[in-house]
Amino acid sequence: MLKQVIDYISPTDLGEAVALLRQFPGEAALVGGGLDLSWRPRKQARVLIGLDRLALTYQECREEGLAIGATTTLLQIIESPLLVKYLGGFLPRVLNHVATPLLHGMITIGGALVRAYPWADLPCLFLGLEAQVILYDGADRLLSLADYYADRSLRGADGPLLREVLLPTLAGSRIAYQRFTRTAVDIPLLNQLLRIRWEGSRVAEAFVWLGARPGAARRVAEVETLLVGSSLTGEECEQAVGRMREQAEVESDLRLSADYRRHLAGVLLRRNLEEVADAA
Ligand SMILES: Cc1cc2nc3c(=O)[nH]c(=O)nc-3n(C[C@H](O)[C@H](O)[C@H](O)COP(=O)(O)OP(=O)(O)OC[C@H]3O[C@@H](n4cnc5c(N)ncnc54)[C@H](O)[C@@H]3O)c2cc1C
Repeated sequence: MLKQVIDYISPTDLGEAVALLRQFPGEAALVGGGLDLSWRPRKQARVLIGLDRLALTYQECREEGLAIGATTTLLQIIESPLLVKYLGGFLPRVLNHVATPLLHGMITIGGALVRAYPWADLPCLFLGLEAQVILYDGADRLLSLADYYADRSLRGADGPLLREVLLPTLAGSRIAYQRFTRTAVDIPLLNQLLRIRWEGSRVAEAFVWLGARPGAARRVAEVETLLVGSSLTGEECEQAVGRMREQAEVESDLRLSADYRRHLAGVLLRRNLEEVADAA
C-alpha cells in the first residue's frame, strides 16, 4: 500500500519536524491520523514524519478562546468536557455524526483541515466558527482559517505544519449545522452552517456557510443580509429560504444535480433557522 515509503520518523520537537521537511523536499509527508495517507497514498512521499510525539494533542481554554492542538482526534473532541461547554456542546454533537465511529479515533483536526476535501464537513464547520490557525515553519504564524484556504501554497507537501486551531468564544451566538448524506455514514452531498447573534428580538449578525457544493465552503452573503434585522418570523424565514435557493452557488457532480443541491440548500436553511430560533 505504501511501497515507496523508505522511512517513518517521529520527531520530538517542531524544529526537528520542519528540518526533516526541508531535508526531503517534495518527498516527505506529515502524518496526523494517517487515515488519508493510507487511503490515498502520495506517490512521491518516501519519508513519513509522524506528529504523534510533538505534544500537539490538547484542548485548552485561554483568554482569547479555545485552543485545540493539531493531532487532537475527532473522538477526543467528542469526549472533551471542555468542548461540551463550548457553544452548548455544538462541536461534539456535530462531529459525532461525521465519518464513522471507528474513524473518529483516527481523524485529526490538523489532518482534516489541511486535506480539506471539497465535500468535507470540517472546513465548513471551522470557517463558520471563525477559527484561526497557527502554522509553524521555524516560527509561528497566526492567520484566519479563511486566509489559510485563500493561499494554496500553504497546503503544499513541504509544509508549513499546522500546529494549533484557535476558536473565538463567540459569546451570545446561536449556531446550527446540517449535512445531507445518502446514508448515516456517508460523506455529505451538501452541508450548511448558520450562526446568528441576537440583539433584543432581532438578528444583529448572521453568517451562512454552504459547503460540499461540491467545492470549498462559501458564505452566502445575500441570505445573511436578509436575515440581519429580522425576528425570524415564519414569513421572514421563508423569504430567506427562497433567497437561498436563488443564490446558492452549487454545481452538479456524479452524486447530485445542481438543481437538487439548490433545493436542498433551502431545506437545510429552514432546518437551521428552526434550530437557532428554538435555541433562542
Ligand atoms: C472512509 C472515510 C470517510 C470520511 N468521512 C468524512 C466525513 O464524513 N466528513 C469529513 O469532513 N471528512 C471525512 N473524511 C476525510 C477525513 O477527514 C480526511 O481524510 C482527513 O485528512 C483524515 O485526517 P488524518 O489526520 O488521518 O489525515 P492524515 O492522513 O494524517 O493527513 C492528511 C493530509 O494532511 C497533511 N497533514 C496532516 N496533519 C498535518 C498538520 N498538522 N500540518 C500540516 N499538514 C498535515 C498530511 O501530510 C496529508 O497530506 C473521511 C475519510 C475517509 C477515509
